[in-house]
Amino acid sequence: MKAPKTHNIFNPEKECMSREALRELQNERLRKTVKLEYDNVPVYRARMDAKGIKPEDIRTVDDLRYLPFTNKTDLRDEFPFGLLASPKSEIVRIQGSSGTTGKPIVSGYTENDVEVWTEMVARALVAAGGTKDDIIQIAYGYGLFTGGLGAHQGASKIGAMTIPMSSGNTARQIMMMKDLGSTMLCCTPSYATYLGETIREMGLDPKKDLKLKSGVFGAEPWTEAMRTRLEELLDIDACDIYGLTEIAGPGVAFECLEKCGMHINEDHVIPEIIDPVTEEPLPYGASGELVFTTITKTGMPMLRYRTHDICVLHPEKCACGRTTVRMGRITGRTDDMLIIRGVNVFPSQIESVLVSVKGVAPFYMLIVDRVNSTDTLEVQVEIDENGFSDTVADLENIRNEIGEKIKSVVGISAKVTLVGAKTLPRSEGKAKRVIDNRKL
Ligand code: ADP
Ligand code: ZN
Repeated sequence: MKAPKTHNIFNPEKECMSREALRELQNERLRKTVKLEYDNVPVYRARMDAKGIKPEDIRTVDDLRYLPFTNKTDLRDEFPFGLLASPKSEIVRIQGSSGTTGKPIVSGYTENDVEVWTEMVARALVAAGGTKDDIIQIAYGYGLFTGGLGAHQGASKIGAMTIPMSSGNTARQIMMMKDLGSTMLCCTPSYATYLGETIREMGLDPKKDLKLKSGVFGAEPWTEAMRTRLEELLDIDACDIYGLTEIAGPGVAFECLEKCGMHINEDHVIPEIIDPVTEEPLPYGASGELVFTTITKTGMPMLRYRTHDICVLHPEKCACGRTTVRMGRITGRTDDMLIIRGVNVFPSQIESVLVSVKGVAPFYMLIVDRVNSTDTLEVQVEIDENGFSDTVADLENIRNEIGEKIKSVVGISAKVTLVGAKTLPRSEGKAKRVIDNRKL
């Protein structure tokens, strides 16, 4: 059963503001945030000083371009608390995501920040037809990853009956979905597809046996073709939701039932599109790298955070009544980050594991595929000629060690294949380390 296209809005005062009033609010909040960063975060102060900028110089959104960018490397270099703009005692939550090497990057949230994030997700759920009468099944992972808790908080905020399933255990997910009569589902689009396929294989008919009406799916890129398939498989409306830990978590932007791009919560974040090479701002409608400045966070606010996600911003008014700018689907990345089963994976993380294992050389190839709607990762790695031992037990130990370390560093399991020394292709330029066979 699909959701009625009613266009409920969680916070119409903010989501449907006139563009002029929104700009005023953004200007005022931006000024506050810049001052907060300058006064409390040494890195931001040093960078602004180096550019000869004082907080008073940033008056409006148009002045954003004078501010320095923030990168994922800054979160790594200042790990864990160097970017906090509030005292540690004000931080009530830590969430994290994969960094480029072994350590996760973490973000600290004040009570205010948790509230801001929660409202963003609440808006997303209401935009997908959610009300207090809904039964919302959360099948994103709970933990440091923002997906599970983020969706949970938003669902509780709208007063829905919230089922904290976390990810995996498909048979149990389907049993609960059926017995409790879940009306909404929150998880990655690939897991939703897998759930849908399994439901069909079990001979269940979503129209008769389930009560699902809509799903809010994100944390990884997907396509219109996947939307069509999911909507058919589960007989629902499937809406996209986008976010990242550095900015808040899921909910930074979300689709309404018009399904024409994700409304950005512009009273909390200011989006920009830049040319990733020249770093110059680009106009609406141009494809480029998405950059966010948070304007209400107090724990770890971010000035001009480079997401490395590529998309287009659409300013036209939406039929739902919201006035916020919409972002199109993410069409690529400007770095080498892969998203495997919703988890961010950097080839450099795998490399850091391989150099720590005796008996293998740091020549490897990552092969990513999608089998039965589930991402798979195979790591092919060369045996080290010198430390070579060909006893089956030794090879098995090496394989296990690599597999366990990848699991603990990256958070996902991988198939490890050992290959002979000097058998992987060498390249003279930038090494090609990844073969992504997934067809989205
Ligand atoms: P999340 O929990 O939202 O996945 P992470 O911080 O772990 O947060 O990862 C953020 C990254 O995940 C984004 O920069 C983007 O590359 C990807 N991502 C999140 N949501 C979407 C989405 N709806 N579509 C495409 N990519 C997404
Ligand atoms: Zn809309």
